[in-house]
Amino acid sequence: MRPDDPQLKRLEPPKLNLLEQTYLPQILGGLAVTGRHILQSALGKTFTVEYPREQTLRSPNYRGVHRLNKDEQGRVKCVACMLCATACPAHCIDIVGATAPDDWPDREKYPESFVIDELRCIYCGMCEEACPVDAIELTSLYDITGFSREEMIFDKAKLLSVYDVTKDAEPMRTAPLTPPDQPQPKAHEYATAIEAPPGTSQP
Ligand code: SF4
Ligand code: SF4
Repeated sequence: MRPDDPQLKRLEPPKLNLLEQTYLPQILGGLAVTGRHILQSALGKTFTVEYPREQTLRSPNYRGVHRLNKDEQGRVKCVACMLCATACPAHCIDIVGATAPDDWPDREKYPESFVIDELRCIYCGMCEEACPVDAIELTSLYDITGFSREEMIFDKAKLLSVYDVTKDAEPMRTAPLTPPDQPQPKAHEYATAIEAPPGTSQP
């Protein structure tokens, strides 16, 4: 958006009156919240979640690690147009495109290599917004870990394996999102499958 765009709204900080400038109302408001929690805690109400055994509900459009989607024929959907890598503000997507195989008449190119550095990513979602064929999506997985930086650099096989283990619980965004009151996938249950991806030697 350009700075002179007529739709741009400039917000001014709210003006504080004399009392608010002492910050006493805000401090007392904070103390009231703390006091209410202490009282509820004394009455037996718990506020903690025993993660990972218990998990809180995540928003249906939560943005976790990426996956590369496959088409109906099991091929990677990506057409190596580079739009996601161009849109990425963190410069963490690296794609090497190649001429598509002769028996892929629906596209000119495919990604010979597709790598995302999940540690550099800021999970903004610009890549999935930019993709014209819904090939890249962010999943709800947030607790994928690794012992080295290299393990958190996802190559094409790993990104496709994320699709394999999440596709049933998280249909492609072209399908409706899971309503918030539906059971959500438990991210930690996917981790083993993703870290040891099934054979993904196909393009
Ligand atoms: S979510 Fe944002 S930062 Fe991460 S790869 Fe996509 S565009 Fe880049
Ligand atoms: S994932 Fe989508 S935007 Fe990125 S290169 Fe492939 S087709 Fe283009």
